[in-house]
Amino acid sequence: MTFRAPKGTNDILPPESDWWREAHRVWDALCEQFGYGLVLTPIFEDTEVFARGVGGDTEVVEKQMYTFDDKAGRSLTLRPEQTASVVRAQIQAGGVGSRFKCAYWGPMFRYERPQKGRYRQFYQAGVEYLGSASPEADVEVIELGYRFLERLGVENVELRLNSIGDPADRAAYREVIRAFLNERRDALSEDSVRRIDANPMRVLDSKADAEVVADAPTPVDHLGVEAQTHFDAVRAGLDAIGIPSVLDPRLVRGLDYYNRTVFEYVPLGYDAAQSAAGGGGRYDGLFEVLGGKPTPGVGLAMGLDRIELASAQRGRTSQLDAYVASIDESRRTDARALVSRLRSSGLKVETADQHRSVKAQFKDADRLGARFVVVIGDEFDDGMATVRSLADGEQRSVALENLSEWITSQ
Ligand code: AMP
Repeated sequence: MTFRAPKGTNDILPPESDWWREAHRVWDALCEQFGYGLVLTPIFEDTEVFARGVGGDTEVVEKQMYTFDDKAGRSLTLRPEQTASVVRAQIQAGGVGSRFKCAYWGPMFRYERPQKGRYRQFYQAGVEYLGSASPEADVEVIELGYRFLERLGVENVELRLNSIGDPADRAAYREVIRAFLNERRDALSEDSVRRIDANPMRVLDSKADAEVVADAPTPVDHLGVEAQTHFDAVRAGLDAIGIPSVLDPRLVRGLDYYNRTVFEYVPLGYDAAQSAAGGGGRYDGLFEVLGGKPTPGVGLAMGLDRIELASAQRGRTSQLDAYVASIDESRRTDARALVSRLRSSGLKVETADQHRSVKAQFKDADRLGARFVVVIGDEFDDGMATVRSLADGEQRSVALENLSEWITSQ
């Protein structure tokens, strides 16, 4: 009997996973530079955290949650996203004193129809900037996502930006869009008709009804003074740091707790075009929905699986500094000792698992893309090793005590 990974999930193995490791490094470095601390939360939560925090009439909650009862009969759900978890954790920890900036990375779970770039277990890297209502917080978060894609070599990224206003603006807008949709009821899909009463704004991003809503009134044309001022400041802030954006009046995003700014990064060259590599927005109402004190927040989530598909650096394996080869069986212990020393000095080093012919070891080194092969023979007793460059075949004798500096300087 053999097994396969469950439908909609992937095994990510070397060498493909080299990209994931690199992406993780880039993400960590970026978050540290921008001042976002690491947050780890459980992979499952009380179902209500997501039912409330994501919103009852969203597709995620209606159709896509992995919900189960544990042995004590509690209803738990594998996280479909992490913002609700982070906010729950922050409320549990006593709320956000002043501003609080944090970052996460990990698997998320949604029962989706699997296709390229859409999985049931997928990976997100995200940040939350809590406790600030300033448009500068929006700009910073949007910049961070943009730089992430830039550093991973994702080219031709379109940043789409919109504002869905404050709750009061949306209440007024809802009447306008409802009237528009009711006039066209017969032309709309079943899902959209159902949303006319519950959440009519969501019809704007319905793929099935794109034509019907092409000239529908949009929320960005119905902003109150405060939301408009905020949005203008976000756009000006992005302009000032040279990040181009386009206004997308129909961008509303599926999750209920967003207000004001919403955004998405779309890599235009990516073959499953139009699907976002990441996105986010402001969610000033979320803390109260989860039982906390009113606290503004803005965040984003980047979809790693899609970024990998769109990344020019995909498949690039990291280079090995040196391969340590032994001239015969009796030199294995010396070889192992040297490997250990070189690794401690920070170099990327590999060796065989037991003595093999020198020819076989060179072949192995070549396959692994080593820059140098260090051959351990009798000169080891005099503190020397023979080092051969695999790039040009040049060979020289190097003192062991200088070996790691010598390799680093090459
Ligand atoms: P969301 O949490 O829905 O705002 O999604 C943020 C990002 O996560 C999206 O832009 C995608 O890149 C990624 N994403 C969401 N759902 C999936 C999925 N089922 N499979 C792969 N990536 C996803």
